[in-house]
Amino acid sequence: MDSPDTPNKPRASRSGLIAEADQPFVDWLCQRWGGSSWQEAVENHCRQLLHETDNNKGPISLARVAARLGIDPRPEANKEVTTGGWLDLARGRIVLPEGSDRRLSPRYGRARFTYAHELGHAMLYSFEKLPAVRLAPPCGELEEILCNHAASHLLMPRDVLMQELGGETVPSADLLRLVKERFEVSAVSAAIALHEVLSPHQKAGSFHMLSSLTGKHKTLGETKPRCVVCFLPPELREKGIEFLPSFKGLEHISRVANGQEYKTWSLVEFFSGRRGGYFPKPTTYNEVLVIPKPKRRVFHLQSSHRPFDSHSVWTSGTIALLGEDERIQA
Ligand SMILES: [Zn+2]
Repeated sequence: MDSPDTPNKPRASRSGLIAEADQPFVDWLCQRWGGSSWQEAVENHCRQLLHETDNNKGPISLARVAARLGIDPRPEANKEVTTGGWLDLARGRIVLPEGSDRRLSPRYGRARFTYAHELGHAMLYSFEKLPAVRLAPPCGELEEILCNHAASHLLMPRDVLMQELGGETVPSADLLRLVKERFEVSAVSAAIALHEVLSPHQKAGSFHMLSSLTGKHKTLGETKPRCVVCFLPPELREKGIEFLPSFKGLEHISRVANGQEYKTWSLVEFFSGRRGGYFPKPTTYNEVLVIPKPKRRVFHLQSSHRPFDSHSVWTSGTIALLGEDERIQA
């Protein structure tokens, strides 16, 4: 039940691909919580729980949801745990890293995600008697994805999120900060939720991206500059064209200049220029970039990078696809 703060990749969770063995589990969710997909069922149940606990603005009180589910709302601090956490079914209690429940802790947003993720597991059990009794049929890997989905929707109910955005539809560092602070979530969770609600409104040609010094999706992995989420314009998204998937390292991207390819994207240099948690001054770049995989694609990117926090960068600008599978001179 470990839960790194890496919510589902945008869109991937909507693929609808379900392992045959998980079908009874999905049927159970849809019957019990209503909906025609597991995502819809989970979103319905989260909305119901938030309604029953009078949670209608940010930051959401997870403690009230925990109490409603019959578990101890006070998480237990554990010195041995540094990341993630778990739900102790025998005692009906969530265990989190020591100190992570303090608002000033840099781990606070992430710990709230873990807490909410464990509430996702708790929804599948009855805590009337301890140890808890599982109500839902068994489930494989889907359960972890479901708990991340539940965590995102518990922490940032989409209707409340839309209200907080006040009609603003252009993704920006300021908007990301507003969501992060208003809902007391990590920049990663905030960016992924923002991507979901703002993508349908994105303007042609526009590009936004949050990148961060972070580990890899799921397996954590080496900490290095990675794309957290890319906001791509409709003309690229509709053709299924990606720039970078979430949690992909940036080091494979090359820049084309004078007919040569160099492994020097300005964003990678921006991260290399970071000293003692401080990034260089924001600068605008006009570049032709090559993404080698899964298909060689050449993009024109005019963008500027600015620090979001001590380890994350917000990039904003314009993007155009110049070509695929071909050498481009620039
Ligand atoms: Zn889990």
